Amino acid sequence: MCSVCGCATDAARIDGHVGEPANAGAQGHDHGHDHPHDHGHGHGHGHGHGHGHGHGHEHEHEHEHEHEHEHEHEHEHEHEHEHEHEHEHEHEHRHGDGRALHGVHAPGVSAERMVSIERDILSKNNAYAAANRARLREAGVFALNLVSSPGSGKTSLLVRTIEALRERLPIAVIEGDQQTSNDAQRIRATGAPALQINTGRGCHLDAHMIAHALDGVPLERGGVLFIENVGNLVCPASFDLGEAHKVAVLSTTEGEDKPLKYPDMFAAADLMLLNKSDLLPHLEFDAQACMVNALRVNPRLQTMVVSARSGEGMQAFYDWILARASAAAAAAAAAAA
Ligand code: MG
Repeated sequence: MCSVCGCATDAARIDGHVGEPANAGAQGHDHGHDHPHDHGHGHGHGHGHGHGHGHGHEHEHEHEHEHEHEHEHEHEHEHEHEHEHEHEHEHEHRHGDGRALHGVHAPGVSAERMVSIERDILSKNNAYAAANRARLREAGVFALNLVSSPGSGKTSLLVRTIEALRERLPIAVIEGDQQTSNDAQRIRATGAPALQINTGRGCHLDAHMIAHALDGVPLERGGVLFIENVGNLVCPASFDLGEAHKVAVLSTTEGEDKPLKYPDMFAAADLMLLNKSDLLPHLEFDAQACMVNALRVNPRLQTMVVSARSGEGMQAFYDWILARASAAAAAAAAAAA
């Protein structure tokens, strides 16, 4: 469950492991590691009940919601909970919770309670992210989390980057999309190993998914791990995956005010790539204004204007990666010595 928008990731799977939810509880498969799963659970139940509930659990948790609302909801959902998976876990799921970020309310749940639920989810994510970061640091792998709207050109940018850098350093990719493994296939066509995570109804990757995915990609010292997040400028901003940097990709076919409209993402990023610069002559996009907007949101943001199609500006990105990957490798070597 996304603590931001309330979307579910119960149907998430990693490269063909159907039914492997990667964020909340990992039903249906054995973990070698222990999760800090205690699921604080406050059950917001936003009533109005959009309630996707692709999953089916037994709900034995202690709802404290007071239900003073008028309940005319027509239940377009059938709520029969047919359990497409047989989870044996006894932890309580957090559905309905979240929704607290950014001023979302749930009737019957106090603001304090909502804040504590949100804090709980994000702190669990942060625990996984810290473990991922430690693992990557120890391995000497430089990890980037690419975030953007759908269609900004992240995969094309990765393909070009891999083609340019594959002789220089080992590269692995984790792809996140709601459905299909199209992007992982595009990456594999370059010869780089790629693992696809499908988040189902989920709108972002979380650190728990990445913890599993790290078992499935080669982590070589001096290498780069690209994580292409689900196309979404909102929720991925809140979820640290353990990356060294978030890289926000914005394209010239979007509005130059995107950084102002979605400030959290640009505040969370360390580098912004303004992609599709080859289209600038055909558009009314004001690249200068876009940069000003981005820097207003995040004065420390580095920016580059690039075209994954023509290659314009890409060398600066390659150099940025190479310098940092080699520093990560050197730090791992020093720590291991
Ligand atoms: Mg893509």
